[in-house]
Amino acid sequence: MVGNGPGGVELAKNLSGTFDVTVVDREGVPHYSKPMLSLYIAGLVGRKKLFPYSLDWYERKGIELSLKTEAKLIDRGRKVLVTDRGEFQYDVLVLATGARAREPGVEGKEHLLTLRSLDDAEKARRLVEENGEMLIVGGGFIGLELAANLAKAGYRVKLIHRRNTFLGLDEELSSLIRERLEESGVEFHLNVDLLRADSEGVATSGGYVESRVKLCAIGIIPNVEIARKSGVHVGRGVLIDGEFRTSARDVYAIGDCAEYNGTICGTAKGATGHARVLSDLLMGRESSYDFGFRSTVFKFGDLPMVIIGRIRGRGRWLDENVKVFTEGERVVGAVVVGSSGKAFSLEAKIRDGARVSDL
Ligand SMILES: Cc1cc2nc3c(=O)[nH]c(=O)nc-3n(C[C@H](O)[C@H](O)[C@H](O)COP(=O)(O)OP(=O)(O)OC[C@H]3O[C@@H](n4cnc5c(N)ncnc54)[C@H](O)[C@@H]3O)c2cc1C
Repeated sequence: MVGNGPGGVELAKNLSGTFDVTVVDREGVPHYSKPMLSLYIAGLVGRKKLFPYSLDWYERKGIELSLKTEAKLIDRGRKVLVTDRGEFQYDVLVLATGARAREPGVEGKEHLLTLRSLDDAEKARRLVEENGEMLIVGGGFIGLELAANLAKAGYRVKLIHRRNTFLGLDEELSSLIRERLEESGVEFHLNVDLLRADSEGVATSGGYVESRVKLCAIGIIPNVEIARKSGVHVGRGVLIDGEFRTSARDVYAIGDCAEYNGTICGTAKGATGHARVLSDLLMGRESSYDFGFRSTVFKFGDLPMVIIGRIRGRGRWLDENVKVFTEGERVVGAVVVGSSGKAFSLEAKIRDGARVSDL
């Protein structure tokens, strides 16, 4: 495996004991939780909490972990992964190289932080502690989670976003998120574009917004360089078929680096889902991944939210927590707000083609 994120580590865990598993990663620490990084930046959890598995755990599982090791090239003829720390022979190679944060193409972008790794989080945490404030560019889930947690911890938080809706949600659900975050102190600047950044703030199409610390969370770019250099077909991500096969024999790709049918998964839940199905397939079990169906779990401060399936069009509230979206008679999506307990069984019912009366 190249990559020790949620995709790589889940696959390694499932295959260990059956195969000889080696994981290489260019970072210097064992697997950590990216969804918890905003809690860490806000000082709401300590560093230790980010690490679900110790180095001993890898050893006990028989997983060889090669940290600070950058994969450079796949020598497909010799079935060897070339890294800056030597070569690794493989029978099967899985790319789980994830993605990096997209940088904005504006003047002064050196004044904007981004957030993807623990190193990024350390830097953001130090700066926010020193300055007591942060401006976040982007109302995707990373921006919203970070804004909510920083406000909860008592920091001054501003968020600028180019629309007035978030995460593909309708206006009602977007307002619900905004109102909850506003109650905890987040100042929103909506329907504005970022024009420029400097040391004191950012210029937007709606005026200048001050903040010494600024972080941009406007999307991801899949890490495809090693695949491209090795002659593996790439688009925006590493191109895969429905069973995670790339264009190169015995080379697979999962998680945020992989592109299936024009889509990049973009979530930890997706990456672990890919890993579970691929581990089944590699062990000769029947399994398939439903790429057409997405479901994601978020927590915006004290507001948990689960988004399931397709959430376009007019929805209707089933009860105070659940809004469902239908196509004809069928329920095709739902948003569960405030209590994620119901989400699991609801997701199973929607996958099975439930009607509103079945819920
Ligand atoms: C702040 C933040 C909050 C998030 N919150 C949520 C959330 O609430 N819910 C959710 O579902 N998802 C969330 N996500 C998204 C989720 O973390 C990602 O979708 C997930 O990590 C993707 O997993 P992955 O295994 O594909 O890749 P990654 O986690 O990106 O891991 C890829 C690994 O590959 C390594 N690597 C890359 N290239 C090389 C190379 N050439 N050689 C060696 N190593 C290499 C990298 O160092 C990295 O460790 C969040 C992400 C961030 C950053």
